[in-house]
Amino acid sequence: MKDGPNIPLSTGCRDTPVLRERGQREVFCGLTGIIWLHRKMQDAFFLVVGSRTCAHLLQSAAGVMIFAEPRFGTAILEEKDLAGLADAHEELDREVARLLSRRPDIRQLFLVGSCPSEVIKLDLARAAERLTRVHAPQVRVVNFSGSGIETTFTQGEDACLAAQVPIMGDTDARELVVVGALPDVVEDQAKALLNDLGIDKVSFFPSRTADALPEIGPNTVFALTQPFLGDTHAALTRRGARHISAPFPFGEVGTTQWLAAVAAEFGVDQDLFDRVTAAPRARAQKAIAAHRETLAGKSVFFFPDSQLEVPLARFLVNECGMDALEIGTPYLHKALCGPDLDLIPQGPIISEGQDVDKQLDRALSANPDLTVCGLGLANPLEAQNLRTKWAIELVFTPVHFYEQAGDLAGLFSRPLRRSEMLHFEAAE
Ligand code: SF4
Repeated sequence: MKDGPNIPLSTGCRDTPVLRERGQREVFCGLTGIIWLHRKMQDAFFLVVGSRTCAHLLQSAAGVMIFAEPRFGTAILEEKDLAGLADAHEELDREVARLLSRRPDIRQLFLVGSCPSEVIKLDLARAAERLTRVHAPQVRVVNFSGSGIETTFTQGEDACLAAQVPIMGDTDARELVVVGALPDVVEDQAKALLNDLGIDKVSFFPSRTADALPEIGPNTVFALTQPFLGDTHAALTRRGARHISAPFPFGEVGTTQWLAAVAAEFGVDQDLFDRVTAAPRARAQKAIAAHRETLAGKSVFFFPDSQLEVPLARFLVNECGMDALEIGTPYLHKALCGPDLDLIPQGPIISEGQDVDKQLDRALSANPDLTVCGLGLANPLEAQNLRTKWAIELVFTPVHFYEQAGDLAGLFSRPLRRSEMLHFEAAE
């Protein structure tokens, strides 16, 4: 058993040749992101312009409480809309007017495109401009696509954030923007750590309310907390902001290196850095150690799903002692995931995209101890005696920064422990 963080001294996987596959894929669509975004953005409403299928996806995935006023809904495109027999723009305007008169708490309205709205080429950008003119300044209307055409489910957040960058105000102030939706409790922890390091001008994007949308300019630097924000990264860069490249803040090592990169940017003194991080680092190491006993020496295979695969593999290999056999990801953004790839010792197959039958053959022949995959593949793989972890749980569970490091490791150790217990009971 390996007994410490497994950080390679030489080169990692950044230059490993990538296996690129473009075949049949098994992924959720970008509408899924609304489920965590509507919880985060407290005065926003997400209006999907889509079909009954889109409405069902959202309602079943979000488990809407019947008495709650949800902050998302679907404007359903009927057959006459799809056939071009009705003016979908007029109907949309009526729906939005009805919604906003009933819900004065809404300050930002997102028109979310879907497969049907894209297939009939409904121009939601034009609709958003028109509706902003009608409902400003009380409500800001922005559009983005959550469609499942050539996308994967975490791209919904990326599209939503990228769509807001053009409406950010200008500033020349030297500020840090932390980018990626975090649960409020995790955001508060991150803010406290950064403030303790003496970095006071910090804002978070997405913001909890419309008024708190960060301003941006040539002196803004930003650090990403999610690896699937490629379009947002590009949009912020176009506005003149500069990305602080770092491993993602998962586990003790990832969090320390992420904070260290930010601290270096702001010239934080090493003694202060060590003082601020010592106690939470020790807590994170201890929390991970409890799961490392189960995980160390076990193998893991990632199917492409959440786009979190590279940093999670980095965490499982470096900090939990696992062996990664294949790290599959829908899209490989080396500008974002390069620092994590640097930390993964060479060995695993790095694959981008999917040809699901071929990948299933590789997984079955590799026979990993744990397979991280989408919901659709989990049951078939379990039926083949593989233990699985649903990738989607990783975006619904607080997993970033020091205090969540043990919970993150626990998400992976639990299926292994459960399986060991079942085998033990079966043997008795
Ligand atoms: S956006 Fe497309 S993939 Fe997603 S639920 Fe609607 S029809 Fe299905």
